[in-house]
Amino acid sequence: MIQTPAKPQAVTKLRLPPMDTSAGFRDFIDDAKIESLIGRPAPDPVWVREIIAKALTKTPLAVEETAVLLAADQPELVEEMFSAARSLKETVYGNRIVLFAPIYVGNRCVNDCTYCGFRSTNKDAQRSELDSAALARQVRALESVGHKRTILVFGEHPRYDPAFIAESVRTVYATKLDPKVDGRPGEIRRVNINAAPQDVEGFKIIKEEGIGTFQIFQETYHHGAYAKAHGAKTRKGDYAWRLDGLSRAFEAGIDDLGIGALFGLADWRFDVLGLVTHAAYLKDRHGVGPHTISFPRLKAAQGVEHDPKNLVSDHDFKRLVAILRLSVPYTGMILTARESAELRNEILGFGVSQIDAGTKIDLGGYVEEGDAQVMVQKPKAGKESRQQFELGDNRTLDEVIQHLTSNGYLPSFCTACYRAGRTGEVFMEYAIPGFIQKLCTPNALTTFQEFLCDYATPETRASGERMIASELAKVVDVKLKESIRTRLVQITAEKARDLYW
Ligand code: SAM
Ligand code: SF4
Repeated sequence: MIQTPAKPQAVTKLRLPPMDTSAGFRDFIDDAKIESLIGRPAPDPVWVREIIAKALTKTPLAVEETAVLLAADQPELVEEMFSAARSLKETVYGNRIVLFAPIYVGNRCVNDCTYCGFRSTNKDAQRSELDSAALARQVRALESVGHKRTILVFGEHPRYDPAFIAESVRTVYATKLDPKVDGRPGEIRRVNINAAPQDVEGFKIIKEEGIGTFQIFQETYHHGAYAKAHGAKTRKGDYAWRLDGLSRAFEAGIDDLGIGALFGLADWRFDVLGLVTHAAYLKDRHGVGPHTISFPRLKAAQGVEHDPKNLVSDHDFKRLVAILRLSVPYTGMILTARESAELRNEILGFGVSQIDAGTKIDLGGYVEEGDAQVMVQKPKAGKESRQQFELGDNRTLDEVIQHLTSNGYLPSFCTACYRAGRTGEVFMEYAIPGFIQKLCTPNALTTFQEFLCDYATPETRASGERMIASELAKVVDVKLKESIRTRLVQITAEKARDLYW
């Protein structure tokens, strides 16, 4: 069951722990410097092409170089950037797309972010969280369609302290399908987290449970826009505490870090430069760049009105994805179901490495008949929303997979790196010499074969198996090809599961 909303007096007794301002976190964003880099006249095409050529050598770009790409809006140069982003993605990541689904665990929130349906002043939001039993039901629903990765999403609230987050992670890992009872196997093998920044002790408690990536989105790097969207007296109003939250995570031993910006709060070019600055900062300070970058765009949400001034057009959105790809070649890029299926299909090729599929963002949405999607747009009398914003892509996982394979993308449910200890600096060592393809393509093929055996519709299975055969044919290393073939047979004929390199 979803827990019933608590009585207000019970909630007010809870306190968030004080922020530990001794941890040495830093504000490394210089607004004046970034502002001086944007809005410049269109640069010389020769210079732009030199920077594109540098990006194609898989060298991360300096912020100043990214700024040049942002200023180059001549159509032929934009096309060249799209095509370079496609080819860079292909060389670093191959044609794989990793799939996941989020689970919204709790939507109580002490903050009042102007853009979010969970903001504290949205009195129409129905507040609750999933207890262990309710969370387990969500997990089983995801497992029964074939998901192997989830990200748990939390509002910021005293109830969602590190112990609560840790317990949620434990519940997810402990919830598995039994083929004898459920008719098919199922397990989540990687749990990522999107929650408020913690202090070092809090991060340690969460890390203990074996999480994958800890994501914190700065929302906007522009100090003025940040202050406008996040009340100064709220917890999230502290820009630096949030900005350098991932350094505290690193100090606590979490080296799989996810950054992001919510596009639509400030000039999109400013936030692209903010993300690139953040990535370079993490690499310089900790020797490890971010594992992923997310770039959600503002969506309509209940109880909020967006200032249209900074909303990002589809064209600029495509540009920003391509420019990010060129600027940070080894960072995974996540494109969520906030965007429509059509736009996602188009942007996938520009360098995206992960997408969610079959997503529901209302609490309990994977097993309950939710009409929250409708409610966000038109709240019905007496009905309230448990959803944070409006989704753009409502396709099922099987439908997304069908589409991926028919467009030449290899779906992957791989969770090997994290489980084999290839994270942080070690991950970078593997990624940079191109080992990723030797490990990731085989793991994509075997995890995709598992999906086809256990969960796919007959149509998806047929097209998926054709794809596996053609991908296998491309593997040049004879020993590796043989080893993949053996494992594919073990999976289909012997029902072996969870084999990875
Ligand atoms: N409460 C935590 C926090 O704010 O960091 C994490 C969860 S929050 C539910 C996850 C992310 O959703 C936010 O960081 C924000 O970028 C995004 N988000 C919030 N409102 C949105 C909206 N209206 N449209 C698109 N994304 C939104
Ligand atoms: Fe709360 Fe996060 Fe929404 Fe802000 S974005 S109101 S912190 S849930």
